Amino acid sequence: MSNIATYIDQLIEALTKLPGIGRKGAERIAYFIIHSDDKTAKDLVSSLEDIGDKLQTCENCGMIFLQKEKECSCSSASNTKHICVVENIEDAIKIQNTHSFDGLYHVLGGAISPLDGIGPSELSFDKLLGRISNGVEEVIIATNPSTSGNATAMYLQKILKEHSIRVSRLAIGLPVGSNLEYIDDKTVATAIKERVELN
Ligand SMILES: [Zn+2]
Repeated sequence: MSNIATYIDQLIEALTKLPGIGRKGAERIAYFIIHSDDKTAKDLVSSLEDIGDKLQTCENCGMIFLQKEKECSCSSASNTKHICVVENIEDAIKIQNTHSFDGLYHVLGGAISPLDGIGPSELSFDKLLGRISNGVEEVIIATNPSTSGNATAMYLQKILKEHSIRVSRLAIGLPVGSNLEYIDDKTVATAIKERVELN
């Protein structure tokens, strides 16, 4: 195989390791990069390098932080009044992007799902309990409104009961900007059940 073919093949091989990308998809992306201008390829390389070199996952809270900051913000107890518990890093980033919560996060690494062999010991509940010491006022449960997310929320509620802190969960209701007519029955039913008092 010529050198060029080897390089292209290496790129295709690397791309097939990404989730949801098969051989055909990897080939398409590889040739897109080959045909694109220099800047597109360079931007892609530098983004990949930034992710790989500059970000690190915290062993304590499961969030990612910039390596240059040496330690994750969860290590300074001063801003640990509110902890938002999420299933995955992407959920925490989603909430972070709303700028509506300025506390810290705890990433469980998934949700309780016995059918998939995921029990409490597979998730980082112990580390969360270890973080709940002096100063923590509230734990906000932000697991998904799914079967496994609900099971995880119930488990969290149980283990947090003996700590004298406020435990809340993200509200479940109507999507902002939606129209009742187009929302599924289950969501409407939950919104009625979870209705809020106005006065
Ligand atoms: Zn951390």
